[in-house]
Amino acid sequence: MRIDTQSQEDQTTTPSTAKQWNLAKLLVAELCELGVQDVRTTEHCMVYATIPATVPNPDGIPTIGFIAHVDTSPAVSGADVHPIVHHNYRGGDIVLPKDPSQVITVAQHPLLAGLIGDDIITTDGTTLLGSDDKAGVATIMTMVDVLLKNPRIAHGRIAIGFTADEEIGTGIDTFDVQQFGADFAYTVDGGELGEISDETWSARLATVTFGGKSAHPGTAKGVMVNSMYALAWYLTQMPRDMLPETTEDRVGFVHPYAGVADVQESSVKILLRDFEVSGLESKERLLRALAATAVERFPGVSVRVDVKENYRNMKEVLQHHPQLTENAFEAARRAGIEPFLKPIRGGTDGSKLTFRGLPCPNIYTGGHEFHKKLEFNSRRGLEKTTETLVHLAQIFAERP
Ligand SMILES: [Zn+2]
Repeated sequence: MRIDTQSQEDQTTTPSTAKQWNLAKLLVAELCELGVQDVRTTEHCMVYATIPATVPNPDGIPTIGFIAHVDTSPAVSGADVHPIVHHNYRGGDIVLPKDPSQVITVAQHPLLAGLIGDDIITTDGTTLLGSDDKAGVATIMTMVDVLLKNPRIAHGRIAIGFTADEEIGTGIDTFDVQQFGADFAYTVDGGELGEISDETWSARLATVTFGGKSAHPGTAKGVMVNSMYALAWYLTQMPRDMLPETTEDRVGFVHPYAGVADVQESSVKILLRDFEVSGLESKERLLRALAATAVERFPGVSVRVDVKENYRNMKEVLQHHPQLTENAFEAARRAGIEPFLKPIRGGTDGSKLTFRGLPCPNIYTGGHEFHKKLEFNSRRGLEKTTETLVHLAQIFAERP
């Protein structure tokens, strides 16, 4: 079954696109069919459900939530997806047949060597696969099926959540933590098998606005102040070694990503990203200092710098709940996967939930190359993720 659930930026409603309902409604129907109690939806396309505990004394055991998002990235079309299963992968580059310029290469993906013998799932090269995050949705649904068919598996209460509009960062604002009813949760929205994340960016958005004075160009001498020159100079002052295109791993950046320019007023929006609040503070100081210098260099120009917080590094909270990461590691090992920690150079639904009282690390789905036509996953990726979730449910019942 193929369901286009692409979300869209700059909409006034949640969900941003009505088609996300097509998957949400199907999930509701399937959950009910599986016999899950208590399936609920909200007007904003959130789906909540609860699986009762199988242990005799569930009150001493935390309720664990599993969350995945139904929408796919606005970056690449998710309509009319043609998934291709490359059975029993033999190694080598994978050329996507409908667009031979799209190649998953061994050079860029050394981990392909570990997928030999696996069944790799790609698109035909013309769309997104949508494994982000339908792999999360699928593995959670399979976990539900496994738990309900095997009541001898000991676990506490389990909460299931499917969210809309994760990719545009707004859906989660309508998520009702109270109604969801979990003590802790995991977003199942990560990449490579083994990858577990308890850390995201701390993120701010700066809007820097230069003011000038417009005049009729025929009579502008001594009157006109063109704010565009101040903006142009300002942009050239961004440190080369502090940009998304020059940084990786734990190094933060500033990223001017959109702007408007005219004589009267020119402004730019700049993302500030760092894992440490101190790093974020120093980037904000730098942007403000450069703005002040611009005003000195361009007489008559004024400047305003507005900075707001987007989200914070969930590690600030998760460091007080180390068992969440430890249990995820243990679950991975029981599934035969070597776990590792990877900080997310972005935010997740979990980063916001964590600060709203639902501590929420992120775990893998087996997917790669999110938000691209090269996106892929594998049969083993999905199976091992499902196994991990089933183990995780049990581990919390063993070590409350
Ligand atoms: Zn995702």
